[in-house]
Amino acid sequence: MSDKHYDITIVGGGLIGISLACALRGSGLSIALIEAGNLSKDKAMQAPDHYDDRVIALAYGSRLIYEKMGLWSALEPASTAIKDIHISDRGHFSFCRLHSHEVGVAALGYVIAARAIGVGLLPAVNADIYSPAQAGKLQIQPDYVELPVINRENAEKHTIQTRLLVAADGGQSAIARQLNIDMDSYEYGQTAVIANVTLGLPHHNQAYERFTNTGPMALLPRNEQEAALVWTVGSEQAKPLLDLSEREFLAILQQRFGWRQGKFLQVGQRSAFPLVRSQARESFRQRVVVIGNAAHSMHPAAGQGLNLGLRDVAALAQLLQQAQKNATDVGANSLLKAYDRARSRDQDHIMSLTDALVRVFSNEQPLLTVGRNLGLLALSHLPPLKRLFIRHTAGLMGSGLR
Ligand SMILES: Cc1cc2nc3c(=O)[nH]c(=O)nc-3n(C[C@H](O)[C@H](O)[C@H](O)COP(=O)(O)OP(=O)(O)OC[C@H]3O[C@@H](n4cnc5c(N)ncnc54)[C@H](O)[C@@H]3O)c2cc1C
Repeated sequence: MSDKHYDITIVGGGLIGISLACALRGSGLSIALIEAGNLSKDKAMQAPDHYDDRVIALAYGSRLIYEKMGLWSALEPASTAIKDIHISDRGHFSFCRLHSHEVGVAALGYVIAARAIGVGLLPAVNADIYSPAQAGKLQIQPDYVELPVINRENAEKHTIQTRLLVAADGGQSAIARQLNIDMDSYEYGQTAVIANVTLGLPHHNQAYERFTNTGPMALLPRNEQEAALVWTVGSEQAKPLLDLSEREFLAILQQRFGWRQGKFLQVGQRSAFPLVRSQARESFRQRVVVIGNAAHSMHPAAGQGLNLGLRDVAALAQLLQQAQKNATDVGANSLLKAYDRARSRDQDHIMSLTDALVRVFSNEQPLLTVGRNLGLLALSHLPPLKRLFIRHTAGLMGSGLR
């Protein structure tokens, strides 16, 4: 058992936790990163097992955040630009196309595997990494937070004292639970089935968002002629879809998606993620702040979860760097209140927008069907509305990025 002292301790080495550790490199702050899974920097050069195969649509605004951290060059080679997004409602007349040039950016976003983000970021983490290790029960003191950390391989124990504890421990955050932070949670009864598919025709950097009566289906461009599929289905339909043979799966996918990308030729390994919405009612307590999925998990339909969490990271890192420059307390209540003020509007906005999108577009009620088709038409034909929507999609709102 040994005692360790840090300015900042991040619990959770998911994409948000490691992004924060990267954002704080060079700040002079001492940082601990605790991750329950296996996070080894040596493994980073291969493919760290810890990050899964899900493919992320990183908004253009997230590119700007990583650029500011000096890390975009590590991610760009593994990414594919999204220049256009085609939005349609299966079985109905309307559709809408969003183009990057309409808001003067190089791309609306970038498609990149979660694993590739891990590979790109881990070498830049400048922190003491405790992994595979579990953070235990917190004790909050006026000047610091104390927490036990237990290595899951060799049972080695440390007691960490830290001026600020950052809970980046994902949906179902154990830290938020320990602090009795209430969560507004909702199970959609839907599951996202994800897989890579080979397309019959080149995608020309176009992504598709197709709303179907079971839920939204996204097809995100990858490499030359591949796409990452995120197919939302009722939870009871997920297992049967995973169990289908490749040929059967492709036939159903073709029937649901249509022929805009030619014939679907191949599908890779399929995985399933049950979908839950949950939002913490408070983002901080004394010397503890909750960020990323720990504060807000959402449906992946609008591809906003990581993008929103990265804006949390950028805002928090800026306040912490400023506090370090001014030699003030990084765990001060005033700093945490400033963080909450900076972030709550964007978080509430994205959570409700995503939720509304899923509910309106997973519903076959005739009035809603007419309404959403009129909505898509309006989006197509009203340039100011469309530009506003594109700026949202590209993650350029709520962050002061542009
Ligand atoms: C199918 C799917 C598609 C998605 N697509 C997109 C997209 O296109 N665009 C987008 O922006 N977002 C997308 N998302 C959302 C995005 O993946 C998440 O928002 C993001 O990965 C959350 O990162 P996080 O680090 O906050 O949480 P997590 O990834 O959950 O990481 C939390 C980490 O904390 C660790 N941990 C937990 N408890 C402890 C403990 N007590 N001690 C130590 N460690 C602990 C866990 O092991 C984990 O590594 C998608 C999500 C899904 C499911």
